[in-house]
Formats: sequence, structure tokens, C-alpha cells
Amino acid sequence: MLNFRPSDEELAIAQTVRDFVSKELKPLEANILQRGANGGPEYLIPEEHAGLRERAKNAGLWGIDTPEEYGGADLNWVAQLLIESELRSTFVSFTFGGSAPEVLYTLGEEHKERYLVPTIEGEKVFCFALSEPGAGSDARNLRTTAVKSGDDWIINGEKTWISWGNEADYALVFCRTVVDGEERGITSFLIDREAGWTSTPIALMGASHHRVATLSFQDVRVPDSARAGDVGAGFSTALQTIYRGRAIEGPALAIGVSQRLIEFAIEHANNRVTFGKPLAERENIKMSIAECEVELQAMKLLALNAAWRGDTGGDLRHLAAVNKYYAGTMVNRVVDRVMQIHGAMGYSREMPIEHWYRDVRVLRILEGTDEINLMTVGRNLLKGYVKPGAVY
Ligand SMILES: Cc1cc2nc3c(=O)[nH]c(=O)nc-3n(C[C@H](O)[C@H](O)[C@H](O)COP(=O)(O)OP(=O)(O)OC[C@H]3O[C@@H](n4cnc5c(N)ncnc54)[C@H](O)[C@@H]3O)c2cc1C
Repeated sequence: MLNFRPSDEELAIAQTVRDFVSKELKPLEANILQRGANGGPEYLIPEEHAGLRERAKNAGLWGIDTPEEYGGADLNWVAQLLIESELRSTFVSFTFGGSAPEVLYTLGEEHKERYLVPTIEGEKVFCFALSEPGAGSDARNLRTTAVKSGDDWIINGEKTWISWGNEADYALVFCRTVVDGEERGITSFLIDREAGWTSTPIALMGASHHRVATLSFQDVRVPDSARAGDVGAGFSTALQTIYRGRAIEGPALAIGVSQRLIEFAIEHANNRVTFGKPLAERENIKMSIAECEVELQAMKLLALNAAWRGDTGGDLRHLAAVNKYYAGTMVNRVVDRVMQIHGAMGYSREMPIEHWYRDVRVLRILEGTDEINLMTVGRNLLKGYVKPGAVY
């Protein structure tokens, strides 16, 4: 029997997060919009973020996806999807404390002690440094080198578009490894900022909470103990992290944003009168809102299916590409329609619509562009790896 209804427990957790968002985050929206319009940060500054994390922790919202052995709640993917969707119903970008990127759990015990635990505790900030000026979609073409020198490695190169690169205390850096003059594939290293890398922030059109930066490595010497995994195994480490992001995190953003935007559209359509009638009585407005709803329903079902597969050990490779492509494109269609329904008000900085219009555009670019995800879907079908439309 197919059943897409989350359990009562999962729904109760989602309700707790919805309450937190209503009580703590949505009331900040007007100030942050105003601050952004005056040229200030359009995101929570670290002190604001830390204060909110403390209040969330007091409400039991901490370590959502963290295994119990590290003090977390270890919630399943379905619960995580519901939580993330609730959090993304506001543009005030907030994440609960007590979590660490999935990739850090793949490390050896020594590295876990040094990096994973302080990251969970909020004492250290991590960044994931794969992309380079000459290697984005084709990340395997990266040029940063790690050359073996005695027991150490010497790192040279540049990474770019790295989220939290300017705040990070350490970076997981993917390098082309060279031993005795011979190339040995891509290897990842955990490198503290103190080892000598520098960062320069990059200004973006939106999504400024990513705080992206360029990282520069010039003869940065690290011991062999900085190596995170075997020589040549770096790319499989990189791949391990992408499926979850594509399958449920991008979709959760699309769901949270779209749901809120449709609510705005309904309210505006019912209240705004033109030529003697509310917009809600015009066919084009009804259809525009209806199209948003159809896409939101489809997105939710795709995301729930991916989360259920994640919880049951299913293969996410195809669905991750389907979901990421659909999330990026549908949420951009929704925000465009809802802006149009609002006219000049949608374009103004009085409402979050223009903020989201700038923010969600990036979902079609980061963590795999639309084109790269479509290529994956097409290849899977044409090579016979999946059957058309197979969802179970
Ligand atoms: C806000 C933000 C945060 C990011 N955070 C991180 C991070 O934390 N860590 C990190 O390592 N990276 C990060 N990135 C980088 C991101 O992963 C890359 O931008 C993405 O992989 C695309 O690479 P690119 O920008 O170099 O585009 P390119 O690869 O140059 O692609 C340009 C265009 O060409 C298309 N294209 C490329 N190849 C083909 C092809 N073979 N056939 C057809 N079309 C093609 C693409 O789809 C795209 O439309 C971030 C980017 C942004 C914007």
C-alpha cells in the first residue's frame, strides 16, 4: 500500500519547527529586508544566529541529523525533510546547531575528534572546497596540487565559490596528488586556516547567507595526517555528499519557499482590486496560482519519495538528479509568477518576493546545474540504468 503521510511523530516535530519559525524567525523578516535595502547584511549576522540557536536548543531543536552517539536526535530523512521545508518558509536563513556535514562522518577517528566533534559543538566552522576557477561542473578537472615532500604535502592552487569560505576555520580541500613526480589521482585533505590559506569574499546577486569566498593556497605545508582518506580516493568522498543535498535539501527549499509564496499570492489576489474586481476573480490569476500548486504538490511527492528511499537504504542516484532539476526550475517559476501577481509590490523590497527572486536563482546553478542533472537523467535512461518513470 502506498502511503505518503508522515507519521504522527514526524508531523509533531514539523509543527514544533513551524512554531519556532513563526515565533522567532518570521518576526525578523521586516528588519532584515529594511537592513538589506539600506545596504546592510541580508542574512543573520553571527551573533543573531548564535542567539537563535541557543533558543532553538532550549526548545529541543538541536542535532537533528546527528547520530545519538554524538548527542544528536538522529531523526530520519522524512523528518529532516519536513523540518527543512518548514525552516525554508522564511528567507531568514537559519540552521539548527549540533550538526555537521555528512562528509565528516566518513573520516577516521582522529579526524572525527579534531574536526567532527568541534563542528557539531559549533566551535569550528567547516567549508567544502572542490570548485575552482577552471573546474566547476567538470570538477574532476581541478588543478590544485598536493605534492609529496618527505612526510608532508605541499598544497598550491585556488578554490572558488566556497560557501562559508571566509568564516571557515578549516577546509576539506580536493587536490590532484603528485608523488615522486607521478600523478596519483584526486585526494582530499583537511586543512586548518592556520596552516596558511587565505580567503577573499565574493559578492553575489542573492543567497548572500552562503558567504562564498575564493581560497588561495600558496605552498601550504600539511602533514600526512591531514589526508582525509586514501590517496586517489578523494572524488568518491566528494560524491558521497551530493545525493542527499540534491534529493532532499534543494527540494526542501523549493517546498518551503513555494508554499509561502502561494500563501502571499492567495492573500494578494483576494485583496487587490483592479477594474472593480478582486484579482482572484480573473482567470489568468487563478491559473497562475493553480500552476504553482500543481508544481508544489509534485515537488512534495518527489521529495517524500526520496526521503523514504534514503530511510530505507534505496538507490538515490537517479532521483537525486530528477529532484534537484525539478526543485531548481519549479521554485523559479513559482517566484516569477507570484511576483507578476503582485505587480510593483512584488518587485519592491517591502516584501520578501524580490529577495527570493534573487536567492532561488542559485538553485539552478549550485550542487549541479540544471544541465548537469538533466544529462545524468538522460544518460541513466539511454544506457538502460533505469526504466522510464520507475518510482518504486
Ligand atoms: C552560492 C554558491 C555556493 C557554492 N558553494 C560551493 C561550495 O561550498 N563548494 C564548492 O566546491 N563549490 C561551490 N559552489 C560552486 C558550484 O558547485 C558551481 O558553481 C557549479 O558546480 C557549476 O560550476 P560553474 O559555476 O563553474 O559553471 P560551469 O561548469 O562553467 O558551467 C557553466 C554553464 O555551462 C553548462 N555546462 C557545463 N558543462 C556542460 C556540458 N558538458 N554540456 C552542456 N552544458 C554544460 C552548465 O550547466 C552551466 O549552465 C557554489 C556556487 C554558488 C553559486
